Amino acid sequence: MHVLLHAAHEPIFGLAMMKELAHHGYRIGPGTLYPLLHGLERSGLLRSTLDRVDGRRRRLYKITPKGKRALTKAKEKVDELYHELHEEHPRKVTAKAGREVRKSG
Ligand SMILES: [Zn+2]
Repeated sequence: MHVLLHAAHEPIFGLAMMKELAHHGYRIGPGTLYPLLHGLERSGLLRSTLDRVDGRRRRLYKITPKGKRALTKAKEKVDELYHELHEEHPRKVTAKAGREVRKSG
């Protein structure tokens, strides 16, 4: 999700993304990140192009419309979790249906 988020803002490439993830405290090496990027592309969430920088080729990844939809869905889930994390009284999950215990006062 983090990768999609950044790809939604700008074309990303492996090394820059590794630095960004390190900034957030995730130690992710090329052996993990590149397969992840390839997987996202295979799933149609990212699309890559080859770019030439100072004579060196670099693969740039951009988010696709499908990727944007997936990001929106993921964001809704995270927002929901965020709200529940900050609720003082999260909904009881063990109360039986129809016999929900309500606290008074
Ligand atoms: Zn970030």
